[in-house]
Amino acid sequence: MIEDKNQEHTSLSSLGEFGLINHLTKQFNIKNDSTLTGIGDDSAILDFKNKSVVLTTDLLLEGIHFDLSYMPLKHLGYKAIMVNLSDVYAMNATATQVTVSVAVSNRFPLEALEAFYEGINKAAEVYGVDVVGGDTTSSKTGLMISVTAVGEVDIETAVMRSGAKSNDLLVVSGDLGGAYLGLQVLEREKQVFKVNPNSQPDLQAYSYIVERQLKPEARKDIIKLLKDLDVLPTSMIDISDGLSSEVIHLCKQSEVGCDLYETMIPLDPQVISTSEEFKMDSTTVALNGGEDYELLMTISQEDYPKIKANPNLTVIGYMTDSSNGMNLVTRSETKIPLTAQGWNPLGSDSEN
Ligand code: ADP
Ligand code: MG
Repeated sequence: MIEDKNQEHTSLSSLGEFGLINHLTKQFNIKNDSTLTGIGDDSAILDFKNKSVVLTTDLLLEGIHFDLSYMPLKHLGYKAIMVNLSDVYAMNATATQVTVSVAVSNRFPLEALEAFYEGINKAAEVYGVDVVGGDTTSSKTGLMISVTAVGEVDIETAVMRSGAKSNDLLVVSGDLGGAYLGLQVLEREKQVFKVNPNSQPDLQAYSYIVERQLKPEARKDIIKLLKDLDVLPTSMIDISDGLSSEVIHLCKQSEVGCDLYETMIPLDPQVISTSEEFKMDSTTVALNGGEDYELLMTISQEDYPKIKANPNLTVIGYMTDSSNGMNLVTRSETKIPLTAQGWNPLGSDSEN
Protein backbone atom coordinates (compact mmCIF):
# COMPACT_ATOMS: atom_id res chain seq x y z
CA MET A 1 0.00 0.00 0.00
CA ILE A 2 2.78 2.41 0.87
CA GLU A 3 5.65 1.02 -1.20
CA ASP A 4 7.12 3.58 -3.55
CA LYS A 5 8.63 1.81 -6.54
CA ASN A 6 10.78 4.82 -7.47
CA GLN A 7 12.40 5.09 -4.08
CA GLU A 8 16.16 4.61 -3.80
CA HIS A 9 17.40 1.46 -2.13
CA THR A 10 20.81 1.66 -0.50
CA SER A 11 21.85 -1.56 1.20
CA LEU A 12 22.61 -1.33 4.93
CA SER A 13 25.80 -3.34 4.59
CA SER A 14 27.32 -0.69 2.32
CA LEU A 15 27.70 1.66 5.31
CA GLY A 16 29.05 -0.75 7.91
CA GLU A 17 27.78 -0.73 11.50
CA PHE A 18 29.52 2.40 12.68
CA GLY A 19 28.82 4.29 9.49
CA LEU A 20 25.16 3.37 9.84
CA ILE A 21 24.89 4.43 13.49
CA ASN A 22 26.67 7.67 12.76
CA HIS A 23 24.51 8.37 9.71
CA LEU A 24 21.26 7.78 11.59
CA THR A 25 22.11 9.55 14.82
CA LYS A 26 24.07 12.63 13.68
CA GLN A 27 20.85 14.68 13.54
CA PHE A 28 20.21 14.42 17.28
CA ASN A 29 20.93 17.48 19.38
CA ILE A 30 20.85 17.83 23.16
CA LYS A 31 18.07 19.97 24.70
CA ASN A 32 17.97 19.05 28.38
CA ASP A 33 20.33 20.25 31.13
CA SER A 34 20.14 16.78 32.66
CA THR A 35 21.90 15.31 29.61
CA LEU A 36 25.62 15.81 30.23
CA THR A 37 26.69 13.59 27.31
CA GLY A 38 24.66 11.67 24.76
CA ILE A 39 25.46 9.37 21.84
CA GLY A 40 29.08 8.51 21.06
CA ASP A 41 30.58 7.03 24.19
CA ASP A 42 30.04 3.70 25.91
CA SER A 43 27.26 5.23 28.01
CA ALA A 44 25.45 8.54 28.21
CA ILE A 45 25.92 10.61 31.39
CA LEU A 46 22.84 12.13 33.03
CA ASP A 47 22.53 14.36 36.08
CA PHE A 48 19.17 14.87 37.76
CA LYS A 49 20.39 16.93 40.74
CA ASN A 50 17.70 16.71 43.44
CA LYS A 51 15.02 15.11 41.24
CA SER A 52 13.93 11.50 41.23
CA VAL A 53 14.40 9.52 38.04
CA VAL A 54 11.65 7.54 36.30
CA LEU A 55 12.61 4.81 33.88
CA THR A 56 10.45 2.74 31.56
CA THR A 57 10.91 0.49 28.55
CA ASP A 58 8.82 -1.10 25.80
CA LEU A 59 9.53 -3.69 23.15
CA LEU A 60 7.80 -3.59 19.75
CA LEU A 61 7.91 -6.53 17.37
CA GLU A 62 6.94 -6.59 13.72
CA GLY A 63 3.91 -8.81 13.19
CA ILE A 64 2.90 -8.56 16.85
CA HIS A 65 2.76 -4.84 17.62
CA PHE A 66 2.87 -3.34 14.14
CA ASP A 67 2.29 -4.26 10.52
CA LEU A 68 4.51 -2.49 8.00
CA SER A 69 1.98 -2.96 5.20
CA TYR A 70 0.04 0.01 6.55
CA MET A 71 2.36 1.53 9.15
CA PRO A 72 4.76 3.97 7.47
CA LEU A 73 8.20 3.72 9.10
CA LYS A 74 8.27 7.41 9.95
CA HIS A 75 5.06 6.97 11.94
CA LEU A 76 6.41 3.83 13.54
CA GLY A 77 9.44 5.75 14.83
CA TYR A 78 7.19 8.46 16.20
CA LYS A 79 4.83 5.96 17.81
CA ALA A 80 7.67 3.95 19.38
CA ILE A 81 8.65 7.11 21.28
CA MET A 82 5.03 8.01 22.18
CA VAL A 83 4.35 4.62 23.72
CA ASN A 84 7.23 5.16 26.14
CA LEU A 85 6.65 8.84 26.88
CA SER A 86 3.06 8.00 27.74
CA ASP A 87 4.35 5.76 30.56
CA VAL A 88 6.56 8.59 31.85
CA TYR A 89 3.68 11.10 31.85
CA ALA A 90 1.48 8.55 33.63
CA MET A 91 3.78 9.01 36.65
CA ASN A 92 3.18 12.79 36.46
CA ALA A 93 6.82 13.09 35.41
CA THR A 94 8.67 15.04 32.71
CA ALA A 95 10.28 12.94 29.96
CA THR A 96 13.90 13.92 29.31
CA GLN A 97 15.85 11.17 27.50
CA VAL A 98 15.27 8.07 25.38
CA THR A 99 17.44 5.29 24.03
CA VAL A 100 16.43 3.49 20.84
CA SER A 101 17.56 -0.03 19.98
CA VAL A 102 16.75 -1.71 16.70
CA ALA A 103 17.27 -5.17 15.26
CA VAL A 104 16.80 -4.99 11.52
CA SER A 105 17.06 -7.50 8.69
CA ASN A 106 18.89 -6.70 5.47
CA ARG A 107 15.59 -6.62 3.58
CA PHE A 108 15.35 -3.04 4.87
CA PRO A 109 17.22 -0.49 2.79
CA LEU A 110 18.96 2.47 4.41
CA GLU A 111 16.08 4.70 3.27
CA ALA A 112 13.68 2.72 5.45
CA LEU A 113 15.80 3.29 8.55
CA GLU A 114 16.18 6.94 7.62
CA ALA A 115 12.39 7.27 7.59
CA PHE A 116 12.16 5.49 10.94
CA TYR A 117 14.75 7.84 12.48
CA GLU A 118 12.98 10.84 10.96
CA GLY A 119 9.94 9.85 13.05
CA ILE A 120 12.11 9.36 16.15
CA ASN A 121 13.70 12.77 15.65
CA LYS A 122 10.34 14.46 15.10
CA ALA A 123 9.00 12.99 18.34
CA ALA A 124 12.16 14.01 20.22
CA GLU A 125 11.86 17.58 18.91
CA VAL A 126 8.14 17.95 19.61
CA TYR A 127 8.36 16.44 23.10
CA GLY A 128 11.72 17.94 24.08
CA VAL A 129 13.53 14.70 24.81
CA ASP A 130 17.16 13.81 23.98
CA VAL A 131 18.06 10.59 22.14
CA VAL A 132 21.13 9.60 24.16
CA GLY A 133 21.93 6.11 22.97
CA GLY A 134 20.78 2.79 21.69
CA ASP A 135 21.98 -0.31 19.98
CA THR A 136 21.87 -1.53 16.40
CA THR A 137 22.00 -5.14 15.40
CA SER A 138 20.80 -7.43 12.65
CA SER A 139 17.75 -9.64 12.72
CA LYS A 140 16.83 -12.70 10.65
CA THR A 141 13.10 -12.34 11.00
CA GLY A 142 11.50 -8.94 11.29
CA LEU A 143 12.07 -5.50 12.71
CA MET A 144 12.39 -5.22 16.48
CA ILE A 145 12.41 -1.94 18.34
CA SER A 146 13.17 -1.36 21.99
CA VAL A 147 12.85 2.12 23.42
CA THR A 148 13.74 3.13 26.96
CA ALA A 149 12.55 6.47 28.28
CA VAL A 150 13.96 8.40 31.23
CA GLY A 151 12.19 11.21 33.03
CA GLU A 152 12.38 13.31 36.15
CA VAL A 153 9.92 14.06 38.91
CA ASP A 154 9.82 15.73 42.31
CA ILE A 155 9.10 12.71 44.44
CA GLU A 156 6.24 14.47 46.33
CA THR A 157 4.39 14.90 43.03
CA ALA A 158 4.97 11.42 41.55
CA VAL A 159 1.62 9.71 40.98
CA MET A 160 1.33 5.96 41.24
CA ARG A 161 -1.42 3.47 40.48
CA SER A 162 -1.90 2.74 44.15
CA GLY A 163 -3.15 6.04 45.59
CA ALA A 164 -6.89 6.06 44.74
CA LYS A 165 -9.31 6.44 47.66
CA SER A 166 -12.99 5.61 48.00
CA ASN A 167 -15.12 8.59 46.73
CA ASP A 168 -12.37 9.90 44.45
CA LEU A 169 -13.57 10.81 40.97
CA LEU A 170 -12.45 8.71 38.02
CA VAL A 171 -11.30 11.03 35.22
CA VAL A 172 -10.05 10.40 31.69
CA SER A 173 -8.33 12.68 29.16
CA GLY A 174 -9.40 12.96 25.51
CA ASP A 175 -11.65 10.31 24.01
CA LEU A 176 -11.47 6.54 23.70
CA GLY A 177 -11.73 3.71 21.19
CA GLY A 178 -10.36 5.60 18.17
CA ALA A 179 -7.02 3.79 17.84
CA TYR A 180 -8.66 0.36 17.86
CA LEU A 181 -11.23 1.31 15.22
CA GLY A 182 -8.51 2.95 13.14
CA LEU A 183 -6.73 -0.41 13.16
CA GLN A 184 -9.92 -2.17 12.04
CA VAL A 185 -10.23 0.23 9.11
CA LEU A 186 -6.57 -0.28 8.12
CA GLU A 187 -6.92 -4.08 8.39
CA ARG A 188 -9.99 -3.96 6.17
CA GLU A 189 -8.16 -1.88 3.56
CA LYS A 190 -5.26 -4.33 3.66
CA GLN A 191 -7.64 -7.19 2.77
CA VAL A 192 -9.17 -5.13 -0.05
CA PHE A 193 -5.68 -4.36 -1.35
CA LYS A 194 -4.75 -8.06 -1.35
CA VAL A 195 -7.68 -8.81 -3.66
CA ASN A 196 -7.25 -5.71 -5.81
CA PRO A 197 -3.76 -4.18 -5.67
CA ASN A 198 -4.90 -1.25 -7.81
CA SER A 199 -7.47 -0.11 -5.28
CA GLN A 200 -6.76 3.25 -3.66
CA PRO A 201 -8.13 3.42 -0.14
CA ASP A 202 -10.23 6.49 0.62
CA LEU A 203 -9.70 7.02 4.32
CA GLN A 204 -11.13 10.55 4.43
CA ALA A 205 -14.13 9.54 6.52
CA TYR A 206 -11.82 7.82 9.00
CA SER A 207 -9.06 10.44 9.23
CA TYR A 208 -9.32 10.95 12.99
CA ILE A 209 -9.34 7.29 14.01
CA VAL A 210 -6.64 6.29 11.51
CA GLU A 211 -4.45 9.06 12.89
CA ARG A 212 -5.15 7.82 16.42
CA GLN A 213 -3.74 4.45 15.34
CA LEU A 214 -0.82 5.61 13.20
CA LYS A 215 0.23 8.80 14.97
CA PRO A 216 -0.76 8.75 18.62
CA GLU A 217 0.32 11.62 20.88
CA ALA A 218 1.42 11.08 24.48
CA ARG A 219 -0.47 13.47 26.80
CA LYS A 220 2.37 15.73 27.93
CA ASP A 221 -0.17 18.55 27.67
CA ILE A 222 -2.36 16.95 30.34
CA ILE A 223 0.53 16.84 32.82
CA LYS A 224 1.02 20.58 32.27
CA LEU A 225 -2.72 21.21 32.49
CA LEU A 226 -3.00 19.40 35.83
CA LYS A 227 -0.11 21.46 37.14
CA ASP A 228 -1.71 24.71 35.91
CA LEU A 229 -5.03 23.72 37.49
CA ASP A 230 -3.21 22.81 40.71
CA VAL A 231 -4.62 19.28 40.69
CA LEU A 232 -2.47 16.39 41.89
CA PRO A 233 -4.21 13.13 40.96
CA THR A 234 -4.36 10.50 43.69
CA SER A 235 -3.55 7.76 41.16
CA MET A 236 -2.85 7.60 37.42
CA ILE A 237 -2.19 5.15 34.56
CA ASP A 238 -1.96 5.50 30.79
CA ILE A 239 -4.53 3.70 28.64
CA SER A 240 -2.61 1.30 26.45
CA ASP A 241 -4.75 -1.83 26.80
CA GLY A 242 -8.28 -0.42 26.98
CA LEU A 243 -10.18 1.47 29.67
CA SER A 244 -11.54 -1.60 31.41
CA SER A 245 -8.20 -3.20 32.09
CA GLU A 246 -6.66 0.09 33.28
CA VAL A 247 -9.55 0.80 35.67
CA ILE A 248 -9.04 -2.67 37.11
CA HIS A 249 -5.31 -1.97 37.59
CA LEU A 250 -6.07 1.24 39.51
CA CYS A 251 -8.70 -0.49 41.67
CA LYS A 252 -6.59 -3.53 42.50
CA GLN A 253 -3.44 -1.58 43.25
CA SER A 254 -5.35 0.98 45.31
CA GLU A 255 -7.56 -1.64 46.99
CA VAL A 256 -10.78 0.16 46.10
CA GLY A 257 -13.85 -0.55 43.95
CA CYS A 258 -15.39 1.60 41.25
CA ASP A 259 -18.60 2.52 39.43
CA LEU A 260 -17.87 3.53 35.84
CA TYR A 261 -20.79 5.09 33.91
CA GLU A 262 -21.29 3.94 30.35
CA THR A 263 -23.03 7.18 29.35
CA MET A 264 -20.10 9.30 30.52
CA ILE A 265 -17.35 7.63 28.45
CA PRO A 266 -16.07 10.24 25.95
CA LEU A 267 -16.36 9.09 22.33
CA ASP A 268 -15.52 10.98 19.14
CA PRO A 269 -18.38 11.07 16.56
CA GLN A 270 -16.12 9.06 14.18
CA VAL A 271 -15.84 6.35 16.83
CA ILE A 272 -19.62 6.20 17.11
CA SER A 273 -20.23 6.09 13.33
CA THR A 274 -17.44 3.58 12.63
CA SER A 275 -18.58 1.32 15.49
CA GLU A 276 -22.01 1.23 13.85
CA GLU A 277 -20.45 0.46 10.48
CA PHE A 278 -18.46 -2.44 11.93
CA LYS A 279 -21.49 -3.58 13.95
CA MET A 280 -19.56 -3.18 17.17
CA ASP A 281 -20.81 -1.65 20.39
CA SER A 282 -18.96 1.64 20.93
CA THR A 283 -18.80 1.07 24.70
CA THR A 284 -17.13 -2.31 24.16
CA VAL A 285 -14.68 -0.63 21.78
CA ALA A 286 -13.79 2.03 24.38
CA LEU A 287 -13.53 -0.51 27.19
CA ASN A 288 -11.47 -3.11 25.35
CA GLY A 289 -9.82 -1.45 22.36
CA GLY A 290 -6.18 -0.59 22.97
CA GLU A 291 -3.59 2.04 22.16
CA ASP A 292 -5.47 5.24 22.92
CA TYR A 293 -2.60 6.51 25.11
CA GLU A 294 -4.91 8.77 27.08
CA LEU A 295 -4.42 9.25 30.83
CA LEU A 296 -6.80 7.73 33.36
CA MET A 297 -6.62 9.20 36.84
CA THR A 298 -8.46 9.61 40.09
CA ILE A 299 -8.83 12.97 41.78
CA SER A 300 -10.14 14.00 45.13
CA GLN A 301 -13.76 15.31 45.11
CA GLU A 302 -12.58 18.67 46.40
CA ASP A 303 -10.61 19.18 43.17
CA TYR A 304 -13.75 18.78 41.03
CA PRO A 305 -14.43 22.54 40.62
CA LYS A 306 -10.92 22.94 39.15
CA ILE A 307 -11.50 20.43 36.34
CA LYS A 308 -15.24 20.57 35.68
CA ALA A 309 -15.16 23.19 32.92
CA ASN A 310 -12.21 21.63 31.15
CA PRO A 311 -13.00 19.94 27.81
CA ASN A 312 -9.84 17.80 28.00
CA LEU A 313 -10.90 16.01 31.17
CA THR A 314 -14.07 13.95 31.62
CA VAL A 315 -15.39 12.47 34.86
CA ILE A 316 -16.54 8.92 34.06
CA GLY A 317 -17.29 7.53 37.49
CA TYR A 318 -16.09 7.34 41.06
CA MET A 319 -14.17 5.02 43.32
CA THR A 320 -15.91 3.07 46.05
CA ASP A 321 -15.13 0.74 48.85
CA SER A 322 -13.58 -2.47 47.51
CA SER A 323 -16.63 -4.46 48.69
CA ASN A 324 -18.68 -2.74 45.94
CA GLY A 325 -16.53 -4.40 43.27
CA MET A 326 -15.60 -2.87 39.91
CA ASN A 327 -18.66 -2.16 37.80
CA LEU A 328 -19.92 -0.67 34.61
CA VAL A 329 -23.19 1.19 35.22
CA THR A 330 -24.97 0.72 31.90
CA ARG A 331 -27.31 3.04 30.00
CA SER A 332 -30.22 1.15 31.57
CA GLU A 333 -28.69 1.68 35.05
CA THR A 334 -27.80 -1.93 35.63
CA LYS A 335 -24.43 -2.71 37.15
CA ILE A 336 -22.27 -5.29 35.44
CA PRO A 337 -18.81 -6.31 36.65
CA LEU A 338 -15.91 -4.95 34.58
CA THR A 339 -13.75 -7.56 32.91
CA ALA A 340 -10.29 -7.05 31.48
CA GLN A 341 -10.29 -8.34 27.95
CA GLY A 342 -7.83 -5.77 26.72
CA TRP A 343 -5.34 -6.73 24.11
CA ASN A 344 -3.54 -9.98 24.31
CA PRO A 345 0.04 -9.27 23.28
CA LEU A 346 0.87 -12.97 23.37
CA GLY A 347 -1.58 -13.53 20.55
CA SER A 348 -3.45 -16.51 22.03
CA ASP A 349 -6.69 -14.58 21.68
CA SER A 350 -7.87 -15.20 18.12
CA GLU A 351 -9.94 -11.98 18.09
CA ASN A 352 -6.81 -9.87 17.92
P1 ADP B 1 28.85 -0.39 22.12
O1 ADP B 1 29.46 -1.43 21.22
O2 ADP B 1 29.75 0.12 23.17
O3 ADP B 1 27.50 -0.80 22.62
P2 ADP B 1 27.89 0.96 19.82
O4 ADP B 1 28.89 0.96 18.74
O5 ADP B 1 26.77 -0.04 19.75
O6 ADP B 1 28.63 0.88 21.20
O7 ADP B 1 27.23 2.39 19.91
C1 ADP B 1 28.01 3.57 19.79
C2 ADP B 1 27.18 4.73 20.26
O8 ADP B 1 26.03 4.89 19.42
C3 ADP B 1 26.66 4.58 21.67
O9 ADP B 1 26.59 5.87 22.25
C4 ADP B 1 25.28 4.04 21.47
O10 ADP B 1 24.43 4.36 22.56
C5 ADP B 1 24.86 4.76 20.19
N1 ADP B 1 23.90 3.98 19.39
C6 ADP B 1 24.09 2.76 18.83
N2 ADP B 1 23.02 2.35 18.14
C7 ADP B 1 22.10 3.34 18.25
C8 ADP B 1 20.78 3.55 17.77
N3 ADP B 1 20.13 2.61 17.05
N4 ADP B 1 20.14 4.70 18.08
C9 ADP B 1 20.75 5.62 18.84
N5 ADP B 1 21.99 5.51 19.32
C10 ADP B 1 22.66 4.39 19.04
MG1 MG C 1 26.14 -1.39 21.22
